[in-house]
Amino acid sequence: MKDYDFIVIGAGINGLALGALLSKDGARVLVLEKSREIGGRAWVQEREGFQVDYGMHLVRFGRESALAGICADLDHPLEFHNVESTYLVADGSQLEIPARGASQSMNMFAGDLSLDELKRVSLKAWMDEKGMGRRIRRLFTATSATLNVNPFVERSSVGELLLNLKKVGESEVGAAYPVGGWQPIFRLFQDWVGKNGEVRTAAPVESIVVQGGRIVGVRTREGNISAERVVSSIPCQGLFNILDEKLCPPVFVAKCRGFRPTAGIVLDYGISGTISEGRNLWCLWEPLSYGFFSSNFEPRLAPPNRQILTWFYPLEKFQVEDKEAARGFEAKLEKEIFSLFPALPERIKWRRSLFLPVVDGAEVSVDQIQEDRPGSTVPGLDNLFLVGDSVGGEGAGGDIGHNSVRQCYSVITGKKI
Ligand SMILES: Cc1cc2nc3c(=O)[nH]c(=O)nc-3n(C[C@H](O)[C@H](O)[C@H](O)COP(=O)(O)OP(=O)(O)OC[C@H]3O[C@@H](n4cnc5c(N)ncnc54)[C@H](O)[C@@H]3O)c2cc1C
Repeated sequence: MKDYDFIVIGAGINGLALGALLSKDGARVLVLEKSREIGGRAWVQEREGFQVDYGMHLVRFGRESALAGICADLDHPLEFHNVESTYLVADGSQLEIPARGASQSMNMFAGDLSLDELKRVSLKAWMDEKGMGRRIRRLFTATSATLNVNPFVERSSVGELLLNLKKVGESEVGAAYPVGGWQPIFRLFQDWVGKNGEVRTAAPVESIVVQGGRIVGVRTREGNISAERVVSSIPCQGLFNILDEKLCPPVFVAKCRGFRPTAGIVLDYGISGTISEGRNLWCLWEPLSYGFFSSNFEPRLAPPNRQILTWFYPLEKFQVEDKEAARGFEAKLEKEIFSLFPALPERIKWRRSLFLPVVDGAEVSVDQIQEDRPGSTVPGLDNLFLVGDSVGGEGAGGDIGHNSVRQCYSVITGKKI
C-alpha cells in the first residue's frame, strides 16, 4: 500500500484547499511545503500586533466566488465585507467608478461579436475601433487594471474583461474582504487536511518520481514518499523544475514554462491613528495602481487605533526585476500615495515594499485566455494533476486558482462542487 492517497506539492491557498476537499472525502493527504510557513503568495504575517496580508488580497464576487463555494463545501460558509466604492483618482479629483455602470457601458459597446470572439481582441484595438474618448478609455483601462490585474491595454482581453464584468453585474459585488481575514481560511483548510493526513512545512519536493510511465510519489530530503496520485500546486512555470520534461509533449512543456504571470510592486503601511475610515478601493491613474485600508474592512487586522494601508502597482516583469528602475517606480508611487493621504508620512509605524516578478500565475491577455492555460491534467501522466492560479479556471488573478481547485477536484473525483 502506498504511504498516501494524495501528495499535494505546495501549501499555498489552492494546494491546501484541494487537500482539504480530498481529505473531507476520506482520502489520506500529505501536503508538502518548501517554506517554513504555509500560505505561499497569500501568506499572512504577524507584525507588531498587526495581521498583514501579502499585499492587497480581495476576493472578486464575494459570496458568489469560487473560494466561498469551496469553504461552504467544507462546512464553513464565508462572510464578506464588500468594497463600497471604487474611486479613480486623476487630475486632482476623485471619480467614482460604478462597477455595474462599467459593465453596462462595455456591453453597450460590445457590438456584434460574441464574448468568445472578443476574447482575442485587445482592449486597445477595441477602444480605437470604437473611437472612444479619453474619459471612457480611462474608465475601461482602470477597470481592466483592477478587475483583471491587467493595465496593459495592448494585450488585455476584452472578452475576458466582459465576462468578469458580467459576473460583477450578477453578483452585485466587484470585490470583497473576508470577515476575520485570511488566517481563518488557512486554518480551516489545514484542519481538514489534518483529519486524514498532514501539512508538512520546510519539506521541499526535490522531484516527482516516475516509474514505468506512472507517478509513484515524490523525492524529498528525507527520502521518497509514495502516493497513488500527486497534485502539483506550484505555478506551472516551475513544474519542470521538479518533473523530467522528457515525460511530456514539448508543446506542453513550452506552454508551462512560457506562461506570463502578472508582476508588480506592493507597498504596505502599518499606521498609528486613523487616516481614513473609507471601505473603498482607490485607483490612482498616474501611476496606474490601487489600494485600500484592509483594517477598515476587518478591524481585527490591526491593534486599536491603528490601520493597515496596502497598495499594488502592476508592472511588467522586467520592470520589477531591474532593481534601479523598480526603486524609481516605487518612489513615484509613494509620492502619489502621500499626496492622496497627506497625513500618512507622519503616521507610519512600519513600511514594507515588495518587488514581485510573480503576483498572479496567469496574466489574462489575448494570447493567454482561459482556453490557453494548462488544465488540471498533464498529458502523458494520468495520475499527476495541476491546481493553482496558472492553470485552468475562469476569471482573473486569484479566482483562477480557486476555480481550478473546483475543476481539479471534479476531474479527480468525478464529483461537482
Ligand atoms: C501581492 C499580491 C496580491 C494579490 N492580490 C490578490 C487579490 O487581491 N485577489 C486575489 O484573488 N488574488 C490575489 N493575489 C493572487 C493570490 O495570492 C494567488 O492567486 C494565490 O495565493 C496562489 O495560490 P496557489 O496556491 O495557487 O500558489 P502559491 O501561493 O504560489 O503556492 C504554491 C506553494 O508551493 C510551494 N512550493 C514551490 N515549490 C515547491 C516544492 N518544490 N516543494 C514544496 N513546495 C513548493 C511554495 O512555497 C508555495 O507555498 C495576489 C498575489 C500577490 C502576490
